[in-house]
Amino acid sequence: MRIGIDIGGTKILVGVVDETGTIIHKVKILTDAKNSYVCVRDDIVNTVDSVLKECELHKKDIERIGIASAGQIDKKTHNIVFSPNLGWHNVPLKQDFEKIFGIETFIENDVNAATYGEWKFGLNSAPDDVVGIFVGTGIGGGLIINRKLYRGFTNVGGELGHITVNPYGYKCNCGNHGCLEAYCGGSYIVGRVQEKIKSGYRGRIWDIIGGNVDILHTGHIEEAYLSGDEFCVYAWREVIEYMGAAMASIVNLINPEVIILGGGVVYGTRYFVDDIRDVMEKRAMPASIRGLKIEKAKLSEDAAIMGAVFTEAESARARGRGFRGSRGRAQGEKAGKR
Ligand SMILES: [Zn+2]
Repeated sequence: MRIGIDIGGTKILVGVVDETGTIIHKVKILTDAKNSYVCVRDDIVNTVDSVLKECELHKKDIERIGIASAGQIDKKTHNIVFSPNLGWHNVPLKQDFEKIFGIETFIENDVNAATYGEWKFGLNSAPDDVVGIFVGTGIGGGLIINRKLYRGFTNVGGELGHITVNPYGYKCNCGNHGCLEAYCGGSYIVGRVQEKIKSGYRGRIWDIIGGNVDILHTGHIEEAYLSGDEFCVYAWREVIEYMGAAMASIVNLINPEVIILGGGVVYGTRYFVDDIRDVMEKRAMPASIRGLKIEKAKLSEDAAIMGAVFTEAESARARGRGFRGSRGRAQGEKAGKR
């Protein structure tokens, strides 16, 4: 058995996962970003304790703990260098967990973990090269290259959301101008349409949201676009063009077999995936998209937990430290169930 933990800005998921990748028990707790690191850490520790009790498991039954966290994970110390949603700087969560539980603990960037989880458990095939793009409030990316999670020189590789798609474009939260995230991240798109409405614009979008800008999400904007709302046609077309163009660049660079698309904008809209695929296919080099599949992420909130409990474990196995749940076996068992 393994414990998987996904630390988000507002909630933390703790799951017990067996060797085949089945979550046998899962608990969600709310977090307050205003609380200190120690306070949040102790909340997670208490939740793990109670999950073990509920499953009638002991510490000795748990072979490893995998933690998915936003932000950069230091390559040497494994500290969380900076977690933007909790305001943590250089916190030793892995070491603290190993001290408290006496169980080997691994920590992974949350989008990397989600990409890995989707690759390992969400796909019907077992492709060698996969790109994960998660379009939520911002945009996160993960790369599987030659069946391994690609982390880069200092562990911050795969930041697809911060590819510059227009050097003179919108301001991004990272400080740069013209990042893909600034064009296609849900909070940025919604922010632009909200601003337009607040400045007095009244189109079809106004009726769709009943005059309440606070409820606006990208599904509304797509709906208004489809019904010909002048500003939303401009705003949503921009999203589709920039996202499709960025994907064309990504496939030209990586030449993946599968692109996994997840996140609220992907799930909350009707034609986003089809529309961006059309743009990508027009812009990419034909050889880069031959045989390419685009799949929607299937594991939802479980993806990061699943990735966190399996990624480092496999790196450890690759280093010859031995690990029972090999990829081949886990995939085989899963395929057998289908
Ligand atoms: Zn950026």
